Amino acid sequence: MWRALRDPVLAGVVWAMLALGSLVLRDMLGGVIVVWAPAGAMVAAFYGVRQQHWIRLALVLLPMQAATSYLIGTPLLLATAFAISSVVQSALIAMVSVRVLGGRARLPRRFQQICGLFAAAMAGCLAGALIAIPFRAEQTFAQFAWWYLANVLGVVIFAPVLLMVLRNLTSRGSGVDDGTVERSLYTLLLGCALLSLLALQVHEVTLMPLLVAAMVIAAVRYGQMASLLVVLVYAAVATALSVVSGSPMPYLGVSAAEATLVFQTWMVTMLATALPVAATLMHRQQLQRELIARNREMRESLMLFNLAEETARIGRWRLDLAGGRQDYSPNMLEMLGLPRSLAPDPGDVRHRMPPGGEELFEHIERNRETLDTYRFTFCIRPANQLKRVLQMSVRNEFDRRGERSAVFGVAMDVTEQVRREEALDTARNRAMKLATEAQKLANTDSLTGLPNRRHTLARLDNMVVVAENYGGPLAAILFDIDHFKAVNDTHGHQTGDEVIQKVAQIARSKARKGDVVGRIGGEEFVWLIAGTPEHAVSQLAERLCEAVGQGFAGTRLPRVTISAGLAYFRQGDTGDCLLGRADAALYEAKGAGRNQVRRAA
Ligand code: GH3
Ligand code: MG
Ligand code: MG
Repeated sequence: MWRALRDPVLAGVVWAMLALGSLVLRDMLGGVIVVWAPAGAMVAAFYGVRQQHWIRLALVLLPMQAATSYLIGTPLLLATAFAISSVVQSALIAMVSVRVLGGRARLPRRFQQICGLFAAAMAGCLAGALIAIPFRAEQTFAQFAWWYLANVLGVVIFAPVLLMVLRNLTSRGSGVDDGTVERSLYTLLLGCALLSLLALQVHEVTLMPLLVAAMVIAAVRYGQMASLLVVLVYAAVATALSVVSGSPMPYLGVSAAEATLVFQTWMVTMLATALPVAATLMHRQQLQRELIARNREMRESLMLFNLAEETARIGRWRLDLAGGRQDYSPNMLEMLGLPRSLAPDPGDVRHRMPPGGEELFEHIERNRETLDTYRFTFCIRPANQLKRVLQMSVRNEFDRRGERSAVFGVAMDVTEQVRREEALDTARNRAMKLATEAQKLANTDSLTGLPNRRHTLARLDNMVVVAENYGGPLAAILFDIDHFKAVNDTHGHQTGDEVIQKVAQIARSKARKGDVVGRIGGEEFVWLIAGTPEHAVSQLAERLCEAVGQGFAGTRLPRVTISAGLAYFRQGDTGDCLLGRADAALYEAKGAGRNQVRRAA
C-alpha cells in the first residue's frame, strides 16, 4: 500500500513545500515569485512515474494541493479549481514530453526535441491557465501573462532539474561527474550569478546577451542541465533582488509586477534561444565524437591489417575500375618487382611489370564475370632476379547494375614453397628410382640377368597361390647343364661363366610373356609356365633342349647340352613339392644319359 502511494505522496509533499516556500518568499519577505517552482515539481512527479500509475498519482496530488492551498488561505472552490488546473496541466505536459522523447529515460538531444518539449510546456500551461482563469479574481492580460509565463518557466526549468536531482539520489555513484568538472561548473555558475546581478541593475548597457552566451557555453560544456542551472541562478538573483529592492529588475523603475513580467519574458527568451542552440551544438559534438571514434577504429583496423600483411608476407591491391584509382600495398609492389615507394598508385603497372606479369592481367580479364573469389598462380622474372612464383586470390566487386566495378586481390609469394615442392618431387623420384633399382638388383642374378634363386622361388610361391585359388595349369621345367664341371676344367672358369650366360640367353628367348626363367643354382635353372596345357609344356621343354644343343654352333664356346625334369602342379602342392618332383625327373634324365627331358610321375 505504502509502496504504491510513496511516489505520489512524495511528489505532493515536495509540491507543498515549494508552494509554501514561494508564498513565504512573497508574503513574508516581500519578494516576487519569479518562477513558480511547484508547477515544475508536479510535471516532474508525472514524468517520473510510470504511465499506468498516473491516475493514482492524480488522485493523491489533487486533494494534497487543494488542501495546501486551502490551508494558506485560498478559498476552497478556488483551491480545488487550481488543483485541477495544475494536475491536468502537468499530466498533459508529461504525456506529450514522453511522446516527444520516445521514452521516459531519454534526454533531449535534437533541436526538434527541445522545440517539442517547449511546445509541450507552453500548450500544457495554456490548458492549465484556461481552466484556472474563470476562478481568478483579477482578469487582466498582465495577470494572465504572469500566471502563464510563471508556469511555463516553472515547468521548463524546474521539472528537468528536479528529475535530475531525483535520478542522482536514486542511483548514487553511477554519475560520471568527477570533482574537477563540478568545480569548474560551480565557478561558471558563480560567474553567472555576478553577471546576473550586474545585468539586473546596470541600465546603461544591456548585459542580457552575455547571459545567453553563458547559457550556451554551459550547455555545450556541461550538458543542457547546466544551462537550466544558469537560468535558475539568474532567477535566484532576481528573486533575492526583489526581496531587497522590491523588484526583480529595479533599474526599470516600473512596478514589481510589471518588472516580473519583463523578467519572465527575458527568461523565456533566454531559454528559447539558448536551449535549441545548445541542443544543435551538442548534437554536432556527439556526431563529431562518434566520427572521431569511428576514425580511430578504422585506423586501428588498418594498422592491424598492415601488420598482418607484413607478418604473413602477403601483398594487397585494389583497382577501382570506374574511377581508375589503384591502391597497391608496398609489399604487393615489391612482389611484382616494382619499387615499394610507388605505393599506393604506381600508375601504368601493366607496362612496367617484369616479363610474365601480363599473365596477371589476362587472368583478371578472363574472370570479368566471376562471382566468387578466384585463384591462380603465375610467374614473373624480374630483371637480375630469380623467377618468382606468385599466388593470387582475387575477388570482383560489382555495382548495382551487375557490372564489375572494382577488383580486389591478395598475393602471396610462393616461390620458396614451389621450389621446395619441386626439390621434394625430384628427391622423391630419385629415391623411388634408386629403390626400384635396388629391388631389381636384389632380385636379379648378376651373371645372367635372370631372376635369382630367392626371387624365382618367391614368384613360384605366388604362381602356386594363383593356381590353387583359380585353377589353371602350372608347370616347372628344371634344367641343368650336362657335365659342366668338365667345361670348367677344360676351358676355364671364365668360359664356364660365358656358357652359363649363353644357356640363360637361349632359355630366355624361348620363354613367353608371363613365364619366369630363373637361375636357382650354379648351372641349374627353372622355367615356370602358367596357363599352358601339359602337352604344350612338354614340347616347350623339348624345344629348349634342342635349342641349347644347337645354340652353340658358330660360337667359340664349347658345345653343351642340358637335361630337364618337368613337373605339373597338383592341387595341394607347395612350390617346394613341385620343384622336388621336377628335380626327381631331372635326376632321371641325367641317369638316362642326359640331353633329354623327363616328366615327373
Ligand atoms: P652333371 O652332368 O651330372 O650335371 O655333371 P656336372 O659336371 O655338371 O656336375 P655338377 O652339376 O655337380 O657340377 C656343377 C659345377 O658347376 C660345379 C661348379 O664348379 C660349377 N659351377 C657352379 N657355379 C659356377 C659358376 O658360376 N661359374 C662356373 N664357371 N662354374 C660354376
Ligand atoms: Mg651339371
Ligand atoms: Mg648341377
